[in-house]
Amino acid sequence: MATTRCTVCHGALPDVSDAYACEACAHRLRALLLELPRHMPLLAELLQPGSGLPGRGGAGRAHSPMPVRLDVMDLLGPGHVVVLEDPHGDQSAGVPITPLLYGWARYIAAGHASVTRDRHSTVRVQPCEGAYSRRGSDAAAWCQWLIAYLPYAFTQPWIVDMYQQIEDLLWRVRDKTDRRPRKTSRSAPCPECDAFALVTTDGEPLTACEACGHRLTAEEYRQHSEAVLPALTALAVRIHGQAAAEQSAA
Ligand SMILES: [Zn+2]
Ligand SMILES: [Zn+2]
Repeated sequence: MATTRCTVCHGALPDVSDAYACEACAHRLRALLLELPRHMPLLAELLQPGSGLPGRGGAGRAHSPMPVRLDVMDLLGPGHVVVLEDPHGDQSAGVPITPLLYGWARYIAAGHASVTRDRHSTVRVQPCEGAYSRRGSDAAAWCQWLIAYLPYAFTQPWIVDMYQQIEDLLWRVRDKTDRRPRKTSRSAPCPECDAFALVTTDGEPLTACEACGHRLTAEEYRQHSEAVLPALTALAVRIHGQAAAEQSAA
């Protein structure tokens, strides 16, 4: 067994597991890699100057506009491949989208053996020379490639770096396209810290507490809310009734 705690969310891992991260984090990383390509057409549009989101920038302009938006160019540009010997996970800042994804694909490929047969049917096992995707070499192709290798990636201790770099990347992208996953507040308080801060986010399987970070599965939330909500509702009705009675007496 590799570790007893998920290296990404620090939740407990099942007793028999060779993974370094839990199933919920695997689901979330997959969702991030599915979401990322959906932003690409928007980014390409934003590359044109003057296509900024409404409400940003002043009306007057003292100089002629730049031929492209450099902040979006930073994300779409060629850039360098991510350096993986990065204990603090901070070298991904500023790395454009495709090089970061391709950097991880190359790193994963380097850890794999390539198995081929020559014309005499002799099996040859040698280190993989690089990552190759039949779908092309754009961000969408590398996202699909990485999704296919996620089961392997989750058995590796560096999965936490990959997760964090891709999550950071997606937040940089969402920041430009202004498309963020929708959050829904839940009515029951957090079973861990009692704060009314439980939220469900689109694409995420777990309900999370924004105050203490505690997380519940859909079934755990259902049981918890069934246990606490009737008493809370009765209390709210009583307080409301008291306030109304005091008001009419005054
Ligand atoms: Zn986890
Ligand atoms: Zn909490």
